[in-house]
Amino acid sequence: MHPLCKMPGCTDRATATFAQVPLCELHHDEIWVETRHYYTKHQQGADRDTRPQYRKIDSLIHWSRKRMGRLK
Ligand SMILES: [Zn+2]
Repeated sequence: MHPLCKMPGCTDRATATFAQVPLCELHHDEIWVETRHYYTKHQQGADRDTRPQYRKIDSLIHWSRKRMGRLK
């Protein structure tokens, strides 16, 4: 079994996961860069809607809300 990347519109094979969501290497890299960037910005008081890639798969991450709360 080779799951496909769950990023909408992407048809690449998943080679990694983010929050248990299968992603291709490109999107996995993108979402980690975005996540690191987000938490840096977040600590500076930036708006929470600054993670466009993450939000595309947000609905697939059932525990994301809980995790966000823990990281505060
Ligand atoms: Zn992808």
